[in-house]
Amino acid sequence: MKLISRLRDQRFCAFCKSPRKLYVKKHVDLTNVVGVILVTLAVTYAAFGGPDPRGVFLFGIMILSGEIFIYLRWRNSVVCRMCGFDPVVYKRSPERASFLVSQFFKEQAENPAFWLSKSPLLDLHRRMREDDRRRQELSGVREKLAARSGAVAVRKSGAPSPRA
Ligand SMILES: [Zn+2]
Repeated sequence: MKLISRLRDQRFCAFCKSPRKLYVKKHVDLTNVVGVILVTLAVTYAAFGGPDPRGVFLFGIMILSGEIFIYLRWRNSVVCRMCGFDPVVYKRSPERASFLVSQFFKEQAENPAFWLSKSPLLDLHRRMREDDRRRQELSGVREKLAARSGAVAVRKSGAPSPRA
């Protein structure tokens, strides 16, 4: 157990490379334990007027809830806000991590706040929209061409030839 562990740090996402600040502290450190011991002693003296075995129970509850809080805070901050990449899931199952990123990608397409962010996924979204637009234009042109050549064919077969 470290004496004091760093709380936050600047890191880069392993997937989209965005820089971000996140909670790197994963477990309670020695300073937390000493702090909880002091608080427990103070509370035990105030509540029971001296050393009391219930203080040990109190210490256990406080240190356990502290550990759970610190761990969940780390677990929550480790997921990239820009692309939804979760390195913890990736270690267990890269396929699952890939699925989560594509789900994040689809969900955030409808989120206006996300469009104001600096996510590198936005470039991909823009490119996909541009591709869609081009594809629609192309199919429109193709339909017009098909309609025109159809009309020409009808005119050719329907009109009587001038020599007949
Ligand atoms: Zn990312």
